Parts: sequence; C-alpha cells; structure tokens
Amino acid sequence: DLEVKQIAQHLPWYGPEYSPHDVPNFYDIAGITENPKVFRKVIDIFVNRYKALGDKGPTRIAGFDARGFIFGPPIAAGLQIPFIMIRKVGKLPGVVATSGEYQTEYSTDESSIRIGSVSREDRVVLIDDLIATGGTALAGIRLVEAFGAEITEFAAIVSLPFMDGVKKIHEFDNGKFKDVS
Ligand code: IMP
Repeated sequence: DLEVKQIAQHLPWYGPEYSPHDVPNFYDIAGITENPKVFRKVIDIFVNRYKALGDKGPTRIAGFDARGFIFGPPIAAGLQIPFIMIRKVGKLPGVVATSGEYQTEYSTDESSIRIGSVSREDRVVLIDDLIATGGTALAGIRLVEAFGAEITEFAAIVSLPFMDGVKKIHEFDNGKFKDVS
C-alpha cells in the first residue's frame, strides 16, 4: 500500500526551459495521473476523508479549470455528490457569476460559476491540483460563499509554501480553516 509520503515522489517539477509558463519550477501532476495505483490512492484519500465527516461532509465538490477537473470528478463520484465546475470566464454556458480579476503565479485570470450550481444549503469542497499564490483558491472561495454556501475546505494535491497561498487563505478566513497535510 502506498504511503502519502511516497506520493510526493510522483510529482516531478520542470525547470524554466521545459515549463509551459514563465516560472522557476513547474510542478506536474501527470506523475500521479499516469500511474493508476498512485492516482487511485490520491482519490481514495480524499473520498475517505470526506466520508469520515458523516453528516458534516460536503454536499458538492467544486473543481477549478483545468486541473481541478482531473481530481474533483472521481472524488465527487466516489461520494455520490455533484461535481461543480469553476471555469475561466467565457467558458461556461448559462447565467454565471464572475469573481473579478485576480493574479495567479503566472497569469491574470477571472473565474466563473453557474448560478444555481451551489446554494446556501451546500457544504462545498474546492479542489485544485496546486496552490501557489492562493489567487485562484480565494476567487473560488469568494464565489461559493457569495451564494451563502459553507466551505468545508479548499484542497490541493501540491502546495508551494514559499508562495504564501495558504497564508493568504488564513488572512481571508481569520484563522477559521485548519491546515491538514
Ligand atoms: P495561484 O492562483 O497562484 O495559487 O496558482 C494556482 C493555479 O495556477 C492553479 O490553478 C494551478 O493549476 C496553476 N499553477 C500554478 N503553478 C503551477 C505549477 O507549478 N504546476 C501546475 N499548476 C500550477
């Protein structure tokens, strides 16, 4: 059986010469998705974690465009709850709410969510592959909270602690969220 620490070995990073963006190191989750055993383990960790919350567990999983769409759906399917897309503006059909522009590690983005996909009865887990500056995570948290839903947690497979994303979330939530790794 795979230990959590071993999963980290499946996360290669690429230097600037092979990165798709202008960043010193680009961390790639393909090392997880291309290894079925590791991928299965990662999904199971989250499914078991949220199942263990019982009645307080999430009622929705919301994933960020694009790599949050890799991890969110199997977790939602495992929990038998809906998967919600948080997409860059201009991509979602229907009536949407938008976050306003925010900075990420390597881009300026704006996120959107379909109105009606979350409500004040919901408890939502937001998931992405990686948290760097926290710009993406915070935009999603704000969007979901704007509908009165409760955030169960923001989850990422990789955190870059030197980029202060987690710190930024704590500044926003006044220490309400607890770190788990
Ligand atoms: P943040 O908004 O600065 O926290 O950046 C996080 C967002 O950018 C996530 O949606 C990630 O998918 C993406 N991202 C930033 N750096 C990396 C990286 O090194 N590898 C993969 N994705 C990254």
